[in-house]
Amino acid sequence: MLKLYNTLTRQVEDFKSIHPHKVGMYSCGPTVYDYMHIGNLRTFVLSDILFRVLKFNGYDVKSVQNITDIDDKIVKKALETNETIEGVSKKFTQVFLKDVNRLNIPWKMGEQPRVTEYITQIVIYIKVLMEKGLAYQEADGSVYFDISKFPRYGKLSQIDKRELKSGTRVLSDEYTKENVQDFALWKAVPEGEIGSYKSELGWGRPGWHIECSVMSQETLSDTFDIHVGGVDLIFPHHENEIAQSEGKTGKKFVNYFVHGAHMLVNGQKMSKSLGNFYTLQDVEQKGFNPLALRYLYLQTHYRQEMNFTFGALEAAQKALFRLWEEVSTWDKPKIARLPTPVRSNGGQGCAEFEEKFFEAVNDDLNMPKALAVIWELVKSDYPTSAKAESLLRFDHILGLNLWEVHEKGFTAPAEKIPDSIMKLVKEREQLRKQKRFHLADQIRHKIKKLGYDIEDKKGGETVVKMIIDKQDRFY
Ligand SMILES: [Zn+2]
Repeated sequence: MLKLYNTLTRQVEDFKSIHPHKVGMYSCGPTVYDYMHIGNLRTFVLSDILFRVLKFNGYDVKSVQNITDIDDKIVKKALETNETIEGVSKKFTQVFLKDVNRLNIPWKMGEQPRVTEYITQIVIYIKVLMEKGLAYQEADGSVYFDISKFPRYGKLSQIDKRELKSGTRVLSDEYTKENVQDFALWKAVPEGEIGSYKSELGWGRPGWHIECSVMSQETLSDTFDIHVGGVDLIFPHHENEIAQSEGKTGKKFVNYFVHGAHMLVNGQKMSKSLGNFYTLQDVEQKGFNPLALRYLYLQTHYRQEMNFTFGALEAAQKALFRLWEEVSTWDKPKIARLPTPVRSNGGQGCAEFEEKFFEAVNDDLNMPKALAVIWELVKSDYPTSAKAESLLRFDHILGLNLWEVHEKGFTAPAEKIPDSIMKLVKEREQLRKQKRFHLADQIRHKIKKLGYDIEDKKGGETVVKMIIDKQDRFY
């Protein structure tokens, strides 16, 4: 039985789907105006792991993730870069799809609704909220949700009701808990201005929160099983989604809210101004395999704050490469590759480890424990064909390319040091032989500035290594 922590109840609960064998889940997707940072990508991997674990439990899963392709940030970016809104959103949608693909997150077509395709439905939805007296239009044409008309407002985020500022409004989509106010459903934007749509509500564009209510309910149903997002979305975003959706239908919106914890970088909050805002491109430029990042994510439980360092990523990559090297030498399992994840049905696998692995993943997605189990399996005395059968079954959940590696083989690449660096290293060696240590030290300093460190071994050998924790290499 799958157990999940539900933010609605602040408890780990047994998961029960609305329809037997079927699950509808919705994950808040990207706003496509910039590169995703590795903190965002961690939440998307959480959605993917949950999707895979549900499939393994025998559910037919419909997983939907929206793409926000119109919003204040996209408008701002378009104005700054002199591009069209479509130009900006298309570019970063492509970047996003490439990123998730490299992290082995398989999104299927049709499961990623875009806001611009739902403007009509959003307007109709807002009109229903207005007819029900839950929303009102201001003189400028903007429409706001009246939180005083929804008594359960603040239940998810456990906001103290006394903080409610009734009668005051907030147009911005992002605000703090100190500003619990009526929020915008429709933002009036003058005709002809960038990012403005003609509608029965006048010219304007939807607010951020309304789009997720509309797209989740349109693609799934009024009430669905699971909603996933980062903890930063609990307030105001998910709180507002509940108010809109339950206000409209009078039914419960979502049964389980699953939230992924924050990510820190070297113990600090990630931000562009601190220069520790990393994207998947940065990770790859430093010579890492994207799946090393996936492995690193799996090493921390999704509800735990994760501290990212490049040292930790290097260790994760080493572990992953070791696993790949190990698996590539194993005998073929006695089963064919299965298209869907299923439990062992008395095959030749390692039953005791399968039991432990599936217990871990079903225990609120305890992936760190699941990884520990696979290493126990690797070190065990089972025949390698039996180990392969179990591990390849686990990979339906892990998503670490174990099948591919097993079939094609794998040798960890030697660390490649650029020729330009090696040239400097040789120059330095020459200078040291000539006992011109001052000049040799200057070259060492130069090499360090380029991101590489030198270690002189006793036998006269020089070891060159990339400095991986230097934050300002790319910014
Ligand atoms: Zn959302």
